[in-house]
Amino acid sequence: MNPVSESLDQPVDGSSTGLGRRAFVALSALALASCAAPTNTGTGNSNAKTALAPVNPPKPTVAPAPPFPGTVARARWSHGEPVAKLMNPMVPVKWITIHHDGMTPFTTSDMALTASRIELIRNGHRGKGWGDIGYHFIIDRSGRIWEGRALKWQGAHVKDHNEGNIGIVCLGNFEVQSPSDAQLKALERHIEVVMRLYKIPATRIKTHREWVGAKTACPGKNLQKFVVTARSKRQFA
Ligand SMILES: [Zn+2]
Repeated sequence: MNPVSESLDQPVDGSSTGLGRRAFVALSALALASCAAPTNTGTGNSNAKTALAPVNPPKPTVAPAPPFPGTVARARWSHGEPVAKLMNPMVPVKWITIHHDGMTPFTTSDMALTASRIELIRNGHRGKGWGDIGYHFIIDRSGRIWEGRALKWQGAHVKDHNEGNIGIVCLGNFEVQSPSDAQLKALERHIEVVMRLYKIPATRIKTHREWVGAKTACPGKNLQKFVVTARSKRQFA
């Protein structure tokens, strides 16, 4: 059990995201349609964090984040800083979980539009009271990999199963569209990099919907199919 976790129940205030109320409501609606389950999603323990939270923000105890060459830096897309006191330090990494963003279909490779899409996700997650975007990596339509939440922090992407779990999200809604070839290649390649780095076996690569208790279609039937096939062919190695 973690002494602290990202709050799911603290007051939600649009002003905390720097957004107007209407924009905030719109973002919340989008967030509900995203990969996370409709309620109470993304993080682990949601109780008692206030009472047990340390006075000082938690310090990362694991620093497993080497540079990933070619990754688009967080500063290229984010309009806000992570809030350390709302996040838990990462513990030894054991899992990789694959997601889609589950919002409206997304087909462009344009850098600015992609950056906006990722920022929209971050805003949705911040609006839930989380410290940053919940995923560690984002893969766009042309196969670029964007840096999400720093790996020194536990992610917020699978309810009750975020400890030691790296979250990778592919942009798009794969219930209604297909992942691009470039996106799939990049996903496979990046999973292999992360597997090697943390010595994660293929049996510990999951999609969001495969977690016990997950009430979600994430990562959408078309990406799910790819992962199932890739695993059966032992493509992740
Ligand atoms: Zn998901």
